[in-house]
Amino acid sequence: MSTKTQLAVIGAGPGGYAAAFLAADLGMEVTLIDMEKNPGGVCLYRGCIPSKALLHVAKLLNEAEEAKKWGIDFGKPKIDIDKLREFKDGVVGKLTGGLGQLSKQRKVNYIQGRASFVNSTALLVEKTDGSTEEVVFEKAILATGSVPASVPAFSIGSDKVMDSTAALELKDVPKRLLVVGGGYIGLELSTVYASLGSKVTVVEMMPGILPGADRDMVAVLERRLKSRFENIYVNTKVVELKETKKGIEVKLEGDKVDNPVQTFDKVLVSVGRKPVTKGLGLENTSVKINEKGFVSVDGTMKTDDDKIYAIGDIVGNPMLAHKAAAEGKVAVEAIMGKRVAFEPNAIPAVVFTDPELAWAGITETEAREKGIKYEVAKFPWGASGRATTLDRNDGMTKLIIEPETERIIGVGIVGVGAGDLIAEGTLAIEMGANANDLELTIHPHPTLSETMMFAAELYYGRATDMY
Ligand code: FAD
Repeated sequence: MSTKTQLAVIGAGPGGYAAAFLAADLGMEVTLIDMEKNPGGVCLYRGCIPSKALLHVAKLLNEAEEAKKWGIDFGKPKIDIDKLREFKDGVVGKLTGGLGQLSKQRKVNYIQGRASFVNSTALLVEKTDGSTEEVVFEKAILATGSVPASVPAFSIGSDKVMDSTAALELKDVPKRLLVVGGGYIGLELSTVYASLGSKVTVVEMMPGILPGADRDMVAVLERRLKSRFENIYVNTKVVELKETKKGIEVKLEGDKVDNPVQTFDKVLVSVGRKPVTKGLGLENTSVKINEKGFVSVDGTMKTDDDKIYAIGDIVGNPMLAHKAAAEGKVAVEAIMGKRVAFEPNAIPAVVFTDPELAWAGITETEAREKGIKYEVAKFPWGASGRATTLDRNDGMTKLIIEPETERIIGVGIVGVGAGDLIAEGTLAIEMGANANDLELTIHPHPTLSETMMFAAELYYGRATDMY
């Protein structure tokens, strides 16, 4: 069987489905190919969405526990893991099913199967029903995303050693869980399991958790994580994993490790993600891979092959769903002949831990390393009325400001709800707002959003001290 299409999109994650839907809305004939029954990709099936459903439950459990301080005792929670799994799977099913409907409504030709390039104008799709289909296209967008990076020494063939996908399946709640990798995925899943009752130990090879974020922001998060986790070892390496009758025996190497051999019931390996570029027949096209292993693209998301564009995790960091979707839209508009380029001033990044940590634009660390002139205004949440009503003064809002123009070039927020609050910072950076704009914008009281305005006031030494 052979199909002709104007646009073939390979991979139906946030990049692929956003591109396919926009192209269909703009009148193109679109074929979208993915192995899954419905669009969604990693983000909906085994990433952003299931993790956030579980983090919502984690938040509830933590708040119920904290309520004791305020005179309310809900007692020890009884966790029905099967029901919890059902809730999480239900969320995934609802959203991916919804995307399936939206795809049909737009008359996108969705093919369930694995695609590879035969040449620069045709794909071969091995469909999940066992048949094959040729898809001849005018243009293609490659959006095959990424998979968890593995460490050969940790592949010991035990189901007690999990990657993020297995951890999200939530088969059980291990008593002792080791999380290898203190990046955002490792910390979010640590938060979930710690709330469900696991004793969690995190091991990070670098000198600190969340290596990309500013240390003063991380310190706020780390204080709370340390009170909830068994241990956080930094500058520490896992050198060996071995399955024994008692669990997974782990050898640790690091300055501050009190006990270099420890046993855990399960180990989650979360050491990064790698782009899916193999098995796609790229050698039959002119698409090139760069030195970091990502697909090379120009500012319009076009690869070295004129007919093929690429977006999302396969083209590089940050590997985030909203970046993938934004790139998808640029690729489609470029294919339709518009003069566009992917040139954001700020891509927000959020760590959905408790508290959340978020940043957009330049970080202070990055500004220092690049020799960029900057000033900082920091508002500690100890002085926020709203944070106090929530009994959550563990937060900080930080503005990175260009001295000459007073423009906001970076925003960092740590605290409850930071993931939502960062949107204002992202808009400020994109709009070229300066600290004065933030200061003069009336913010609702009492809210955590005021901390942006308060930080700007502090920059000018004009704090209103409003609780
Ligand atoms: P993906 O979502 O990776 O989708 C690629 C699709 O391509 C997959 O469905 C795959 O089946 C398909 N595919 C691969 N090869 C082929 C082929 N040969 N033929 C057909 N189909 C193919 N990001 C956020 O922004 N916020 C978060 O909170 C967040 N949380 C995360 C939590 C976890 C645990 C993980 C693992 C990731 C998280 N991410 C988060 C990252 C986010 O999931 C990715 O950045 C995003 O999904 C990338 O989108 P994409 O379109 O590039 O591809």
